[in-house]
Amino acid sequence: MNAEIIAVGTELLLGDILNTNAQYLSQQLAAYGVDVYGECVVGDHPSRLREAVKLALSRADWVFLTGGLGPTADDLTRETVAELWGRKLVFDETIWQKIADYFKTRKRTPVESNRRQAMVPEGAAVLKNRCGTAPGLHLEQDGHHIILLPGPPHEMRDMFEHEVVPLLEKATGCVLRSRVLRVFGMGESEAAECAGDLMDGQNPTLAPYAKDNEMIFRITAKAETAEQAEAMMNPIETELRNRIGDVVYATGETDLQTVVVEKLLQKGLSVATAESCTAGGLAEAITDVSGASDIFRTGIVAYHNETKEQLLGVPHELLETHGAVSPEVARAMAEGIARVAGADIGIGITGIAGPTGGSPEKPVGLVYIGVWYKNQVKAFEFRFAGTRAQNRKSAVRNALNLIRKTVDEQMFL
Ligand code: AMP
Ligand code: MG
Repeated sequence: MNAEIIAVGTELLLGDILNTNAQYLSQQLAAYGVDVYGECVVGDHPSRLREAVKLALSRADWVFLTGGLGPTADDLTRETVAELWGRKLVFDETIWQKIADYFKTRKRTPVESNRRQAMVPEGAAVLKNRCGTAPGLHLEQDGHHIILLPGPPHEMRDMFEHEVVPLLEKATGCVLRSRVLRVFGMGESEAAECAGDLMDGQNPTLAPYAKDNEMIFRITAKAETAEQAEAMMNPIETELRNRIGDVVYATGETDLQTVVVEKLLQKGLSVATAESCTAGGLAEAITDVSGASDIFRTGIVAYHNETKEQLLGVPHELLETHGAVSPEVARAMAEGIARVAGADIGIGITGIAGPTGGSPEKPVGLVYIGVWYKNQVKAFEFRFAGTRAQNRKSAVRNALNLIRKTVDEQMFL
């Protein structure tokens, strides 16, 4: 099987938007063993688009287009492709109902131009759009296939995963499954070193990568059936867990704060936070997760020393003797907030986010996180080397990880 990719949109030619859709499609098609013969970008211009599709069809069996399915006058991909293959456009009442419902649930009214999105070239199969209004289309003619996908990347990806993958599985006779292991507390290079020989395989493949401030291992297997692909991934996951199991915090589509909240809910433990340098970042991360109200007591931003004393009961002498950024104060903040809030776990964060405020003894990026649990209190030292924003984010993520380890009974035995 071979393919070409055409991204449609003048904004792409102007460099306003990066053509991430082509990158995604290239990666996905390559994984299925589809040879991608070419990629191009065309503006919202019918005759140039028509030429690009004709050229792509002369070279490849499958042509994937993204963009130009919107309701505005410049979105002409649907019309151009229908005209090229001599298909009439027919109004599809079912699609129109879905579009009308989409607007209704958002308390908005569709405009006349939205009706264009319900026009389907005769004989085309409709690809469902679960994230927006523009449906995708699959047209087939003389052994050639044209797939039309929406421009917004999240809609395009979702449609690819749910509607295009089954077509690819059928056409290539193989299925692809992948599994992600989420890692906290290990860098990409260190993780790659541990995985070592496991990354040499061709099928299944194992690859580490960093994404959104975290490290992920992705295992991918190609087989004739989904069951076979799943079975092929098991040994490699087991071996990887044997090597780095203690830093794997979850499998699949989740994140650290969700895992933490789920664990607290399972154990029936509550948490309260006292934050200085992160100023509520940890409280925000925890309460980003639905269900947090059952485990989160309160969060206090104790930025000023007097506030640390007055609201958390941090002893004045402690602040005088050791300074606000010290393990002693982090512990006192953790204990203080746990007592004030009556929480099972108390967290105290104090540090120097930078770029100013550092000293030779206490450099920028120095952060102490105190954890109070079962009448015991501990402080952990971190030395981050990022910008102010990165250091604050690192502190929040490490605090989440400490809560996770506390709940897992890895820290207070
Ligand atoms: P359209 O379907 O052409 O109306 O595109 C809607 C929006 O999707 C555009 O405004 C872009 O922000 C985005 N978009 C379109 N094509 C691409 C692409 N190839 N890569 C990334 N984003 C895109
Ligand atoms: Mg467009």
